[in-house]
Amino acid sequence: MSDVDLRGIGMTSQRTRDRLIQRLRDEGIENAAVLDVIRNIPRHIFVDEALSHRAYEDTALPIGQGQTLSQPYIVARMTELLLAEGPRHRVLEIGTGSGYQTAVLAQMVDQVFSVERIRPLQDKARQRLRTLKLQNVQLKHADGGMGWPEQGPFDGILVTAAPESIPAELIEQLSIGGRLVIPVGGGGQQQLKLIQKTEEGISSETIEAVRFVPLLAGAIR
Ligand code: SAH
Repeated sequence: MSDVDLRGIGMTSQRTRDRLIQRLRDEGIENAAVLDVIRNIPRHIFVDEALSHRAYEDTALPIGQGQTLSQPYIVARMTELLLAEGPRHRVLEIGTGSGYQTAVLAQMVDQVFSVERIRPLQDKARQRLRTLKLQNVQLKHADGGMGWPEQGPFDGILVTAAPESIPAELIEQLSIGGRLVIPVGGGGQQQLKLIQKTEEGISSETIEAVRFVPLLAGAIR
C-alpha cells in the first residue's frame, strides 16, 4: 500500500480525524494515549474502499461475513477500561474482525494475541497489520470462546463479540491482577462488563449497554 493510502485523502484528512477525537472526548473518553492512537491510526484501511469515506464517523461499519467493525467510541471505551489500572503486557483479543481493535491494542501493550473464527476476515486483518508494520501481534484461526490456553495467562482480555454468559475458560486464563472487558447478553442487547481477578477472587462491574454481534461457536473456513 502506498503512503497516500495510509495518510488518507479527502474525507480521511487530518481534520476529519481530529473531529472524531473531539467527539470521543465529548462522549467521555479521557485517556490521552488512547485518543492519540485512534487519531493516528488509518481506520479507512480496515473497511472496503466503498465505505472509506465513512471511516472517521463514530459509527460501526460492515466488514463482510455479517460482521462489523466496532464504533470508535466503543473501541476507545474498551481500550480505556483495559488500561485503566496501568500498562498491560499480554493481551488476548477475541474477535479479530477487521483487525482495527487489534491495531489499537498493538500500539498500547507489549503483546497482542487475537483469535478469529472466520478465516477470510483473519486473512484481511493480517494483511492490514502487516501494512501498518505492527509486529507484536499473533493471530489464530479458532473458536475464541476457549481463549488461547497455550499463550495464557493474560493480564488483559478484550472480547469484541457477545456471549450469553462469560466463558469460564476466559476467566481461567486471566492472571491475578488481570482485567477482562466483555459484552454479555443475548438478543443484540448486551451489557459491557469489566471483570477483575484478584487474590481474593473475581469482581464484576457493569459499565454500560452495548450492541455487539454474537460470539458464535466453532471456526469456519
Ligand atoms: N474487533 C473487531 C470487531 C469485529 S466484530 C474489529 O475491530 O473489527 C466481532 C468478530 O468476532 C467477528 O469478526 C466475528 O467473526 C468474531 N467472532 C464471533 N464469535 C467468535 C468466536 N467464538 N471466536 C473468535 N471470533 C469470533
